[in-house]
Order: sequence, then C-alpha cells, then structure tokens
Amino acid sequence: MSWKTREQMEADEQRVLAPFAQKSGDSRGRKYPQLPHAYRTEFQRDRARLIHARAFRRLEYKTQVFLNGTGDHLRTRLTHTIEVASISRTIARALSLNEDLAEAIALAHDLGHPPFGHSGEEILAECMQGHGGFEHNQQSLRVVDLLEEVYPGFPGLNLTFEVRGGIQKHQAFYDPPEPGAAKYRCPSLEAQIANLADEITYYSHDLDDAVDFEILSSDQLEEVSVWRSNHAAVSARYPDAREPELHKLIIRDIIDVQVRDVITSSAESIDRAGVQTADEVRRQERPLICYSEHLLRANRELRRFLYKNVYFHPRVSEVNRRACGMLRAVFDAYVLSPDLLGEAAARRIEAEGLHRTVCDYIAGMTDRYLMEEYGRLVQRSAA
Ligand code: MG
Repeated sequence: MSWKTREQMEADEQRVLAPFAQKSGDSRGRKYPQLPHAYRTEFQRDRARLIHARAFRRLEYKTQVFLNGTGDHLRTRLTHTIEVASISRTIARALSLNEDLAEAIALAHDLGHPPFGHSGEEILAECMQGHGGFEHNQQSLRVVDLLEEVYPGFPGLNLTFEVRGGIQKHQAFYDPPEPGAAKYRCPSLEAQIANLADEITYYSHDLDDAVDFEILSSDQLEEVSVWRSNHAAVSARYPDAREPELHKLIIRDIIDVQVRDVITSSAESIDRAGVQTADEVRRQERPLICYSEHLLRANRELRRFLYKNVYFHPRVSEVNRRACGMLRAVFDAYVLSPDLLGEAAARRIEAEGLHRTVCDYIAGMTDRYLMEEYGRLVQRSAA
C-alpha cells in the first residue's frame, strides 16, 4: 500500500475542517525556519516536541492541588494535562477544528508551573518582586522558547506561531509574527478550546479528588448547583447507585454536561459572528468558544466553592504553605551562592540576570527535587 504524505494530510485538513479552523498548511511557521516533514504536519511535530520535552516529563512529579505524593491516585500536573488534552480533542473534533493544534496547546499549557501548585506560584512571584515577577503562562512560553535545549543552532523547541499563541493564555493582546502588524485580540479557536478545557478539567477533577481525599461532605456538595443538578440526573438514571460509584458517575456527568454546553454554545457564537477564516477569529473582540450564560454563572459559583472548601482547606493549604517555606529558602540559597546552580542555568546568568535564572531553575523543579535541594542546601548548612 502507499503511505500518506504531509501534503496529503494538509489537503485532508482543507477538505474536512471548518473554514475558520487553523490549518497546519497555513501555519505562519517557526522563528528558526526548518524544512517540512515528510509524513507529519507542523502541529503534529509540535505535539511530539512537547511530549519529548524534559519539562513535560517533570509534570509527573509536580503538584496539581494535593501535594505530589499525598495519594497515588490523586491528579498530578501530568495527568491533569492529559485530561485537558483529551477534552480539547473532543471539543475540537465536534466543531470541525484542528485537533492536533488544540492537543499541542493543551499539552504545553502547564509546562511553566512551578512545584507546589498555586501556592508555589504565589511564593515565586513574591521572590521575583522588583525583578520582573512570575506568572506561569509566561513561564510556559519561556520553557518552550528558551529553557528546553535540544537543537544545536537555537534555543527552545522552536514551536509554530500558532502553538506559541495558544500558550500566551492571559496575554491581553497577541502578537502576529510579522513586524509592525496590528496585535490580535484573541488566539485561535483551538487555543480557546484548550483554555476552557483546562477549566472543565480542573473543576471536575478537583471535586473528584476532594471527595476521594475526604475533605468534602455530601451536604457541602449539595450547596453547589453544578453538583446538585448532575446528582439529580444520575439518581434518576441509577436509583441504586451508592458510593464509591455514585460520585464517579456524577463527575462523569459534570464533564459531559460542560463539554456539550461548550460545543453547542460555541457553535452558535461562531455562527453569530459569521467568521470565515482563522484570522478573522483572531480579530474578534472576545473569544467565540464559550459556555452558555447559565453554565457560566453556575461555574462561577463552583469556582468560589472550590477556593473556599478545597484550595484553602487546611489539609491542602497548610501542607502547601510548609512546602513553600522550603521554596523560598532554596531561592535565597541560590541567590546567595549562584555557584550552587546547575551548569546550564549558570550559563544563563549573564544574559538573563541572577534572579531570573534562579527563578527559571526553581520553576523547572519537581516537588520532590525541591525538597531534596532544601535538605542539601538549607538543612545541612544549618546543621
Ligand atoms: Mg491547567
């Protein structure tokens, strides 16, 4: 049999995907030009580059919400990322958008997260006050543009403009690659999908993990309308369902209801906007991938609930706070003695400055490596 070439795959995309989908053959390319591949599209290549990156493998030992190692079946940043990629593909396929692009962005979206979850991000931002600050989406971009070292001629993974645009999530405006061109207000629909898929994923799995970790009672859960309505729907279909299956069924329904809502609401808003090309999507005032008004409100309530009852629950936040004390101590130890930094990091001090180099180094660490470094640099020197 004959095999499929990249050109044929690109022609398939033109035929099958929606007119406003971002086709790989229309990519604005890479900062450092590279020859096209024989049997992979540009976005397939980016996906592979991300999966083979060091920063991607380290996600396995980074905290999502519950300190890494607390329970072996709780989510880590790696399993979170894989769930985001899966939901992104589902939504992208249902809307005839580019699944490879949505997946690549999803796989990259948390590469810049430091150890110890959101508490780690807060402490690192404090350590970097007066030195340019710290924000995990910006850091994800630094990882793929600078910190991964795999090619001889240039730094970073040299990803396409479209995948990089999807990583700059909270940027107010998106830069087109052509110098002097007007900035975009939105990223591609595929990037917008990865963004909402991230939310859907953590809403559902943080509830799931919190129930498994026994920090939420059923009475508390019934306070939340998203939980209440899905619980009622599950009970109507499975009147005999009991724990531990019951909450798994509810979580499954929550994901399905959210994904279905995003697909139907986004299809409507795309129709209303009348966009015909991927570039018209980028020039819109606001994202077209969206929840319905009703679910948007319900999700705001769910988010408030999670902050109050999960992220700031003493069994979660106190453990993370203790870990963050270690992060700060290790940060200070490196600033005081830069010779303790790894070889690749030390080489960057001149170009990036000492604080930024230390910040990059620490943001790249897994939870357990940071704890080991704490033992080595701080506890031992105090002994
Ligand atoms: Mg995420």
